[in-house]
Amino acid sequence: MSLERWEKLLKGEGCPFCTPRPEENKFWSKVCSFSVLSLYLHKSQTYRGYALLIFDPRHATKPSDLTVEEWESFCSVLHVAQSAIEKVVLPAHMNVAALGNQICHLHWHIIPRYQDDPRWGAPIWTTHESEMQVVSLPQGAHQELVRDIRAKCI
Ligand SMILES: [Zn+2]
Repeated sequence: MSLERWEKLLKGEGCPFCTPRPEENKFWSKVCSFSVLSLYLHKSQTYRGYALLIFDPRHATKPSDLTVEEWESFCSVLHVAQSAIEKVVLPAHMNVAALGNQICHLHWHIIPRYQDDPRWGAPIWTTHESEMQVVSLPQGAHQELVRDIRAKCI
């Protein structure tokens, strides 16, 4: 990524995670909104249940941009969303990451892990994104997963 692009993203210019966000696009389906975050099921389901939890109130790039109250909400919603996903997809383990290296708008990656997944025993991002396996669910199965996780969030 060029330094110029990074500087724009830091300021929120062209940020794809700023609101308003589409409920559905080629990357995600919205599951639900919480106090300061919205949960989206990723369209790539190589790791069944893989979801993004994105900060809603404004463009923020790191935890220190938040008030203490926002940070507490950010973490408590993560607990609710992660628990909901776990109950639905029954993973062997869960990875949670807030990296922001490509899109710096504050968000969590919630990544269920399975002993037969392509990167078991390692982070999912150890290869270039173009080399990563992409598994998409049939539309009906994807929407069923969205509904099941939503039901556990409420
Ligand atoms: Zn943003």
